[in-house]
Amino acid sequence: MTEPKKLFVKTYGCQMNVYDSQRMQDVLAPLGYQPVDSAEGADMVILNTCHIREKAAEKVFSDLGRVRKHKEAKEANGGDKMIVAVAGCVAQAEGAELMKREPMVDMVFGPQTYHRLPEMVARANRAVGRNRIVDTDFPAEEKFDHLPEQVSKQGYSAFLAIQEGCDKFCTFCVVPYTRGAEYSRPGADVIREAKQLVAHGTRELTLLGQNVNAYHGEAPNGGEWTLGRLLRELAEIDGLDRIRYTTSHPRDVDEDLISAHRDLKKLMPFLHLPVQAGGDRVLQAMNRKHTNADYRDIAARLKDACPDLALSSDFIVGFPGESDKDFEDTMEIVRDITFIQAFSFKYSPRPGTPASAMELQVPEKVKTERIMRLQALLAEQQLVFNQKSIGKEMDVLLERRGKYEGQLVGKSPYMQPVHVSGLPESALGQIVRLKITEALPNSLGGELVDATRNDQKSERNVA
Ligand code: SAM
Ligand code: SF4
Repeated sequence: MTEPKKLFVKTYGCQMNVYDSQRMQDVLAPLGYQPVDSAEGADMVILNTCHIREKAAEKVFSDLGRVRKHKEAKEANGGDKMIVAVAGCVAQAEGAELMKREPMVDMVFGPQTYHRLPEMVARANRAVGRNRIVDTDFPAEEKFDHLPEQVSKQGYSAFLAIQEGCDKFCTFCVVPYTRGAEYSRPGADVIREAKQLVAHGTRELTLLGQNVNAYHGEAPNGGEWTLGRLLRELAEIDGLDRIRYTTSHPRDVDEDLISAHRDLKKLMPFLHLPVQAGGDRVLQAMNRKHTNADYRDIAARLKDACPDLALSSDFIVGFPGESDKDFEDTMEIVRDITFIQAFSFKYSPRPGTPASAMELQVPEKVKTERIMRLQALLAEQQLVFNQKSIGKEMDVLLERRGKYEGQLVGKSPYMQPVHVSGLPESALGQIVRLKITEALPNSLGGELVDATRNDQKSERNVA
């Protein structure tokens, strides 16, 4: 039997990259590649990169320096070859430049071509000469049609990509250029993959897309499914207990989706709905296609349908032309809506995007002052929400061991990590009812309410 080959994949950036890395492993498994935890001694190293902000892209170049040393050590004195590949959005945006700058990189491929990995590996391994490969096409064939039908086992909580690409062209964002046009996977494919994951033990699914609620996949019997309809179909799957989706655009929240939040118990009461900014002038310059008032209205309709729904958001501060007043509008919408989690970023000009060429770029010092104020407010809202959880009972899906002996960590319906002690490891994968006893800025602590009321479906016992 031939020795398995060692594959090290490092993932940067968003959940979609996490999903893609998993699928790259699925594509390479039939070739004998098995995942390992370090680049040292690996037969193939893939850096699956992110280009969304300058810092994320820079990180790749510093990591490549470390990989170079491992490659040199492995290949010294006629040792076996290490294939070094750069994948993802940096590869898509800067492929040719990357090849010039990093002569030891063997392969560069974008997010839409990794189904061709077997062919690329064969070319890179060809005995004659050195074959360097750049594949940053947006191929006519659909990547999803060429990926293996079987997905490998993932955790109790898993990602499933249902939509990709984006046609919105927000003026700050590279996604439409690196991921390409919007595409929705057929409903039947999504259901098949969800059932496979559930058969492997997954209990919570997060549906992914750059613009996930723009989903309009082919329905099995003709016509189209919206995201709302797809959620209803997924909720029918036995053994699938929790469903989430991310990332949504306010503009694509329709009645189907709102009613899914009202009707489906399995749909968790937590929604990441990026607003980006509060000032209408800024929203317009960002080409967000929604106003401050539109966002408030959508949030109100969602909360009407599902009163315990909690929101999280993304923010960009210091977008070109953002005035003090515009920034105060951002602070005001945060105060009025309240978010229980958020990601906030200083605007980072990205090459080739319209906003990078706009006049009135905001000085770094102003961006820093503004982001500090915004983050302080968001952190306060998160802590208040966590503190209000004390004394409440919540269903928690236990997913992994904690940092301390005897501690397990799970996720609340609102995505808060929850720690619990005194349960056996066999409780991992169970949904247990915990009473929240402790609130920290980024997590909660809880204790078991009553073992007999926990997770009837599981065959395993909780202490
Ligand atoms: N599709 C999502 C949406 O419509 O909000 C977001 C996708 S993007 C991968 C994640 C977040 O990165 C964005 O919501 C935005 O806040 C942030 N982001 C994108 N481009 C940025 C830039 N040039 N500078 C700073 N933050 C940026
Ligand atoms: Fe980028 Fe999201 Fe805007 Fe699309 S909708 S361009 S992914 S920020």
